[in-house]
Amino acid sequence: MPEKNLPELITLKRLIDEGGRHLEVGTSCTVAMDGRQFPVYTIALGNPSPDVPALGFFGGIHGLERIGTQVVLSFMESLLARLRWDATLHQQLESMRLVFMPLVNPGGMWQATRCNPQGVDLMRNAPLSAVEKVPFMLGGQRYSHHLPWYRGAEGAPMEPESRAVCEIVERELLSRQFSMALDCHSGFGLRDRIWFPHAHTATPIAHLADISALEELFSTAYPNHNYVFEPQSRQYRTHGDLWDYLYLNSDNVFLPLTLEMGSWLWVKKNPRQIFDRIAIFNPTARHRLQRVLRRHLILFDFLMRAASSHGRWTPEGMARKVQHRRALAQWYHS
Ligand SMILES: [Zn+2]
Repeated sequence: MPEKNLPELITLKRLIDEGGRHLEVGTSCTVAMDGRQFPVYTIALGNPSPDVPALGFFGGIHGLERIGTQVVLSFMESLLARLRWDATLHQQLESMRLVFMPLVNPGGMWQATRCNPQGVDLMRNAPLSAVEKVPFMLGGQRYSHHLPWYRGAEGAPMEPESRAVCEIVERELLSRQFSMALDCHSGFGLRDRIWFPHAHTATPIAHLADISALEELFSTAYPNHNYVFEPQSRQYRTHGDLWDYLYLNSDNVFLPLTLEMGSWLWVKKNPRQIFDRIAIFNPTARHRLQRVLRRHLILFDFLMRAASSHGRWTPEGMARKVQHRRALAQWYHS
């Protein structure tokens, strides 16, 4: 029996209904596939004033990585439930803006591919090229949309889904003095990683001190966490990274992070899954899925607090220079 709709989209619609008047819901674009129409939803809540900081959560940019969408949905579910009784959450939302785009590439999720229905890898689709050497194929390629990591044709406009991400980021995040984003992926390595730009070059970003301060904040508040923070360029460089592109187009402080959930561990525990395309990117055992869905809630909650309190921890003056030097030694001296 083929599915009638994506379970993730059904959950998202239910959460939108439950959130009711607290949520501002928009449809950034609609993706047509197999006679179906999949909306790409954006959901905003909290204070709409341009004077408050903002935080955005993104998932499902790669259609195969369903767990990315699922962790964002599970955080939304928890927040919406708390909206009914948690006065401290309401206070927090008066001091910040919160944005969700949990399923950027529903067409890719429907057809179980990393790319969108046009065969484009949305995370290689921004008009930005690596200056240094990138890994063959994986770094982004223009040979064919039948092959993975296709960037789209030279000079072509960005795909509607990529444009939708850029529009919401420009409108809701870059317009504010301070904002952060977390984009949830899976599939790389054994550990959960938090990547920050750049992806297109090994040159450090201008806001390295802020990222470093954020990591210290997290590591002192949660000393037993198990994330690896690092610039993406330390693992591999790519063409067309959306977050590099948006970061470089920001006049304000914008710290985009990518959560890369280490899925090889799930496969290691069940080696037969290596032959299953979905299982390589997603935990399939119920207990493992539950563990992943609850594991990242602490991080998500921390990011909300860090965004709304940014004035208390972003380093200034001499402290900023010291922090920058420390970060260079940590991440850029191999
Ligand atoms: Zn991904």
